[in-house]
Amino acid sequence: MTLAKETSTDYDVVIVGAGVVGLTLACHLRDQDLRVAIINQDTFHPKKSVTSNLRVLALTLASQHILEALNVWQRLDPKEYTPFVCMQVWESQHTADLFFDSADTGTSCLGYIIKNSDLEHGLYVQAKTDKELTWFAPNSLIKLQIDKNQALLTLDSGIELSTALVVGADGAQSQVRQLSDMQIKSTDYAQYALIATVQTELSHRQTARQIFLPNGPLAFLPLKDAHHCSIVWSNTPEEVRRLVSMDDETFCKELTEAFEQRLGVVISTSSRLSYPLKIQEAEHYIKSGIALIGDAAHTLHPLAGQGANLGIADAQCLAKVILEAKQKQRSIAAFHTLRRYERERRFYNRIMMGGVDGIKHLFASNNPIIQRTRQFGLSLINNVSGLKNAIARYAMGG
Ligand SMILES: Cc1cc2nc3c(=O)[nH]c(=O)nc-3n(C[C@H](O)[C@H](O)[C@H](O)COP(=O)(O)OP(=O)(O)OC[C@H]3O[C@@H](n4cnc5c(N)ncnc54)[C@H](O)[C@@H]3O)c2cc1C
Repeated sequence: MTLAKETSTDYDVVIVGAGVVGLTLACHLRDQDLRVAIINQDTFHPKKSVTSNLRVLALTLASQHILEALNVWQRLDPKEYTPFVCMQVWESQHTADLFFDSADTGTSCLGYIIKNSDLEHGLYVQAKTDKELTWFAPNSLIKLQIDKNQALLTLDSGIELSTALVVGADGAQSQVRQLSDMQIKSTDYAQYALIATVQTELSHRQTARQIFLPNGPLAFLPLKDAHHCSIVWSNTPEEVRRLVSMDDETFCKELTEAFEQRLGVVISTSSRLSYPLKIQEAEHYIKSGIALIGDAAHTLHPLAGQGANLGIADAQCLAKVILEAKQKQRSIAAFHTLRRYERERRFYNRIMMGGVDGIKHLFASNNPIIQRTRQFGLSLINNVSGLKNAIARYAMGG
């Protein structure tokens, strides 16, 4: 059943952006008697691009449970994801570290490492089973006009659509956000993240590791092969430029040293890509007829691997709000309906964003008092099992 107010539009919901977050929402709205369309600027063959093959996500158990409930997890080949059972964090040239073990949290693992492209593909295959879902790809949103009861979208191919609700799931540079004049607060970290896949001398033993170096954190995330890791190295823009352009042998040598040989020698590396890092959040996630989810609403430093996890939870929450409104025969696009989504998600996202930003600044400080406090803090957390398990559960999304 579709509400009278919304029947005059072509669609009830148009999702702009078929990344992990937009596709998660499409899967939630499947078989709900809603007319849903999804627009994406690229054709859908994510597995072919080098960029998406190098990008991996650390997924929390909470995200994995959401994906399982959507029948997406079951569509992934188990070869495509790696459970990590331990997590180790330390500061360069210091002995104190923080060690999390899934045995202490009573779970079989702490989370999963998966290629962004593999997860997008699993979501895409599941979303495609919805025969009622209309796809517009490759198509970019170029114009958005909001009237009282409908939004009018113009795509670069000239297609025009009307809908009750537009969902901006179109990433950090969201056109939906810009075209609807929704303001963002943004702080540039003056850092880039370098990503690559590397081969190491020693086995990673299914442990995610992160060292805090003076210029930023360096993470080694375990992949299926025990000697392969995906790395995320946050550093100054100049250093990242230098690291990306040097030859592979010199890069492997520098990486081995920076990582204090925790996995022995780094033997080989893939090509290297880099991304600018900033923390940003839309001042409002919603307007009447519009909702922003995922990176369109917020981005944060990748040091805690939370961006996609927050976006998946946004999609779940927005779907819940839409479906409840529909069941109660209320407008799915009204401000007061969407406000429930904003309230719930902004509260949680801000806690996570504040925490990650705090860690980033804490470890960037050269102040000797802060340095000593950091070391004391790491030892303290590591030795108080209740506190450590609480942090681990929060990071797992529980
Ligand atoms: C180095 C790095 C490491 C990270 N590691 C992790 C991690 O371990 N764990 C984690 O949870 N998160 C991680 N993140 C964050 C995570 O990658 C993002 O939060 C997540 O990918 C955002 O997904 P999204 O679907 O919101 O946006 P995107 O993935 O950016 O997707 C947006 C989609 O919208 C489409 N689009 C854009 N504009 C238009 C338009 N005008 N019209 C139509 N379509 C459009 C694009 O083609 C794209 O398909 C990391 C980020 C970085 C940079």
